[in-house]
Amino acid sequence: MIQLIRGFKDILPGEVELWQEIERVSRDLFENFGFREIRIPIMEKTDLFARSIGEHTDIVEKEMYTFPDRKGDLITLRPEATASVVRAYVQHKMYAADPVRKFYTIGPMFRRERPQKGRYRQFYQINAEVIGVDSPYIDAQLIFLLATLLDRLKVTDVAAHINSLGCPECRPAFRKALSGLLDAKKAQLCADCNRRSSTNPLRVLDCKVPGCREAMAEAPSLLDYLCDGCRAHFDSVQQSLKRLGVPFVIDKQLVRGLDYYTRTTFEIQTGALGAQSAVAGGGRYDGLVKMLDGPNTPAIGFAIGFDRLAEIVGLRQADFEKAPQLFIAALGDASAEKAFDWICRLGLEGVTAEMDMAGRSLKSQMKQADRSGAGFVLILGESELASGTAIMRNMRTRAQTDVALDDRIIDRILAHIRPYSN
Ligand code: AMP
Repeated sequence: MIQLIRGFKDILPGEVELWQEIERVSRDLFENFGFREIRIPIMEKTDLFARSIGEHTDIVEKEMYTFPDRKGDLITLRPEATASVVRAYVQHKMYAADPVRKFYTIGPMFRRERPQKGRYRQFYQINAEVIGVDSPYIDAQLIFLLATLLDRLKVTDVAAHINSLGCPECRPAFRKALSGLLDAKKAQLCADCNRRSSTNPLRVLDCKVPGCREAMAEAPSLLDYLCDGCRAHFDSVQQSLKRLGVPFVIDKQLVRGLDYYTRTTFEIQTGALGAQSAVAGGGRYDGLVKMLDGPNTPAIGFAIGFDRLAEIVGLRQADFEKAPQLFIAALGDASAEKAFDWICRLGLEGVTAEMDMAGRSLKSQMKQADRSGAGFVLILGESELASGTAIMRNMRTRAQTDVALDDRIIDRILAHIRPYSN
């Protein structure tokens, strides 16, 4: 038997309804806040990710699915959405008519990480990006949106962590202070962090290896190095969050793995997921539009881990169980022909109707109807066909009613079922 690829998964009926509901609630919220959907390809030129995410990140160094196409051009299955959204913004000169754009997009991402619970090689994200706004109001609004979404999805036990990563003006002094500490703590750091010390020192701050965490406990805080502009910006974000009643904690260890982040960075963490505690993460990436050959334009966004969200939402699968509204138990060819005709016409009326198509006995059809959870069963045997009256059974109350088999049969069936539909 051929099985799916390690780290990939199927989302089966029964679970998929939960995903659809999360998607529906997210879309409603985004559209209410003026976001428009954008759909971008799942493959891009490798260069796009190498340039924007940064050569010295885990994603680009070891996690991308990259391969030459048949002509030898290097292409990559997208590991994240932001780079593509910005590419589209620049490529279509969307800034020309109005530099301010709010996008959302939902879809699969691919990273060749070590699979474990809550970590997959194909996973899904819900992304929101706002391009063209510098104001700290938008930072606060995005965090507010995340908090609202989680609340609507009945997710509890979440905390918003926020930090500021400064800007190219103030970060170098911090990097220098951090590098001093990294040199001193060399022996305590894991092999990855020793490598990161020279290539991407900020990443050492959020390494999960206990020795590194311990060594970094006394790390300087970027917040002590912020320039006046970055400090005022971060203060304003906090004030807005307080006014909006969004609880948050300042987390100086919070850095993002991608190079293009500046200023506000945030993560939603939960105790409900075990080791993979981040449900969503995001932040400002004021340098990215320019880096991808667009005009100098500020931007900010977030990504929610859909798979992780689906695991912790307060809605349960049972809330979305789907059963047919009607099962037609038909015996004999003439009855089956009519039943088939009717289930197709009922489908057009928005009623889910099923029948047996394997020529089973009436008894086993009744069992099948029961198993399917159908609300009603219409019994249509040869004698019913001859007498011109079928029997409609309400499967909840077990009450039975006669239904005349005339040319208004569809209306008669609907009249039975509709009062019980929600
Ligand atoms: P990132 O793009 O790395 O900032 O990730 C944003 C969110 O996507 C994280 O907070 C996770 O919830 C989710 N995520 C990232 N990587 C994975 C993965 N391999 N499997 C499942 N979810 C992931």
